[in-house]
Amino acid sequence: MEKNYLLSVTLDSENCTGCTNCLKRCPTEAIRVRGGKAKIKKMYCIDCGECIRICPHHAKRAAYDSLDTLADFEYKIALPPPSLYAQFNNLDDKSLVLDALIQFGFDEVFEVAAAAEIISAATRQELRREGVRLPLISSACPSTVRLIRVRFPNLIDNISRLAAPIDLAADLAVKAAITKTGLPREKIGVFFITPCPAKVTSVYSPLGIGKSNVDRVIAVSDIYPKLLSAMKKVYEKYDDDDFSHTNTIAGKIGVSWGNRGGEAAGLIIDRYLAADGIENVIRVLNDLEDNKIHNVDFIELNACAGGCVGGVLTVENPFIANVKLNKLRKYLPVSGTHTEDGFPESIRLTKPIEYLPLFEYGGSVAESIAMMQKIDAQFARLPGLDCGCCGAPSCRAHAEDIIKGKTTENECIHLLKKNLQALAGVSTGISGD
Ligand code: SF4
Ligand code: SF4
Repeated sequence: MEKNYLLSVTLDSENCTGCTNCLKRCPTEAIRVRGGKAKIKKMYCIDCGECIRICPHHAKRAAYDSLDTLADFEYKIALPPPSLYAQFNNLDDKSLVLDALIQFGFDEVFEVAAAAEIISAATRQELRREGVRLPLISSACPSTVRLIRVRFPNLIDNISRLAAPIDLAADLAVKAAITKTGLPREKIGVFFITPCPAKVTSVYSPLGIGKSNVDRVIAVSDIYPKLLSAMKKVYEKYDDDDFSHTNTIAGKIGVSWGNRGGEAAGLIIDRYLAADGIENVIRVLNDLEDNKIHNVDFIELNACAGGCVGGVLTVENPFIANVKLNKLRKYLPVSGTHTEDGFPESIRLTKPIEYLPLFEYGGSVAESIAMMQKIDAQFARLPGLDCGCCGAPSCRAHAEDIIKGKTTENECIHLLKKNLQALAGVSTGISGD
């Protein structure tokens, strides 16, 4: 088990009323409500943000770094994701946003979309490699990768061994900055501007790589108002409408990664599938596991509806953001990056992605079988209503919690009522009565 596992999605216990709305929504059954408050089983949370979206009391929130942490470093690099561009109205030149980041206080900007273009080129090559396991599943959405490792272990080998754009961008940016400034690594701060909590966790608890080169993760929603005023200043400063004072290199292929299907479209192949929204992602993975998906070489899965523009840390409606990004793309070259000299070493994942079973039954096979039998027997005693009143998302999960000693059978009010009524000699109507 991983130690010191850092997770972005957290509970504000004071606001939580124990209403159980989040319980049933969690795709990995990582939430329990105990003692009237929700609790997140950290190891199994995939940071999809579904509980943040659904909680009517704003009791779930994402943790990320404060803008004040810019002061921690002498030389500061911003890594803006493509989804950031989609937050602004009437943007037809992304240089305005990049210049505004400098105006705000960064020394340099490295577009994540530029790294995405390099990964698109490497993926095109990977798809032609002999022996590659198809369909290849994109490694870009950290929630999807975490979901596969807890719920779809048979599909782990389908995950692309290419790094996510955020990690490649950080690596390239930091190497260039060291050469340019001569500063030691610790004086250079790499700041990713995140649209979602999953990317915060991917930095602080990375999968597939040892350590991320991103030093801080700040939220799109936090920097957005500051950028609006910085953009106004930049606009006033350059009356020639030429905002290209900061390097802007990414073209259509890289910027499209912010939208659903954008990464797959950049592969210039027909045999791809792109799905977004956690329920659709699960449906595709179930079908793939059941061998129902054929003639597809690449699968792009985004846990957020609309793609990264739908992350819970963005400010714009994802569907409007989608339109805005499409408009911005129109004015860009197809690609702005060059890969003729080969790909950087850091484009590949260096560590395996290991299966993390949602339910651990015991140390040995015999112990596991014995525990499963106990859980089956306990499950048979429960009413099978999956109502969530017990604080677990399903009767099966409640049975497992009982056998593991985390709760008691009496937390099921239906069973309690049935038992009480049985004592009084009255029928409840619950099956098995
Ligand atoms: S949705 Fe979950 S976190 Fe929000 S108040 Fe209800 S139980 Fe608490
Ligand atoms: S972020 Fe997603 S996986 Fe984590 S607790 Fe919330 S709903 Fe469950």
